[in-house]
Amino acid sequence: MKKYQQIVHLLESLKLKGIADNLDSEISEAEEKKISYLSFLSSILQTEIDYRTERRLRRNLAGAHFPVEKHFEDFIFSRVQGITKSDTTNLMDFTWLDNHENLLFFGPPGIGKTHLSIAIGFKAVQAGYTVCFERVNNLIKLLKMAEIQRSAGFRVNRILRADLTIIDEIGYTPIERKEANLFFNLISELYEKSSVIITSNKKFEDWAEMMGDEVMTVAMLDRLLHHSKVFNLSGESYRINQKED
Ligand code: ADP
Ligand code: MG
Repeated sequence: MKKYQQIVHLLESLKLKGIADNLDSEISEAEEKKISYLSFLSSILQTEIDYRTERRLRRNLAGAHFPVEKHFEDFIFSRVQGITKSDTTNLMDFTWLDNHENLLFFGPPGIGKTHLSIAIGFKAVQAGYTVCFERVNNLIKLLKMAEIQRSAGFRVNRILRADLTIIDEIGYTPIERKEANLFFNLISELYEKSSVIITSNKKFEDWAEMMGDEVMTVAMLDRLLHHSKVFNLSGESYRINQKED
């Protein structure tokens, strides 16, 4: 027993927590199956890798700040025009993410823009990418606070380092000129360095009015659209439909 505790202690000093946690079962299994030293070593190292992968996944999922869980499995594609199941299957190879391309979802409220963007974000986390989700209003609040509040600065830095940033609900509320400027700077920083998913109920033509600065809006759209896939969704609101059912 002393030997066992000594080994656990060594494993913990080496920060091999995955092996330390599973040592008991790993040893029992090796003894039972009479596997070779090499197979045993390979098995415990794999345990550590699995443990770390799982931990990273959980950390990335928590760090994404998804407001709710949404998955493709629950999405009824026949209710919406402008995106097909095979479109989303193609997106799941994540070449667009590797190439720092953006996805833009446009359409009226309740059509599934947020649902789709969360489902994509979720799969991206599972595939090992880092993702940040923010509603545009909160994102702007964070950008304003970043200089003076540690937690906001921390979040903004995470967004700057993330592989994918999902910016939800552009267009519901007008953005002040100064705020739009902060937002523009962020988009410029992310441009060609990472991917952005945008959801908006407003067409491009109406963005300038919402942002209060035409020149800046054009420059921002230029960056967002340069390497991008645009999905113009239409159909009936799922929210209203559900009420009628
Ligand atoms: P939007 O962001 O376009 O306003 P949401 O994605 O928030 O719409 O969708 C509103 C609600 O309806 C959510 O609960 C979402 O899960 C659901 N929903 C929307 N479209 C679909 C769909 N095609 N299939 C299944 N659920 C949907
Ligand atoms: Mg939405």
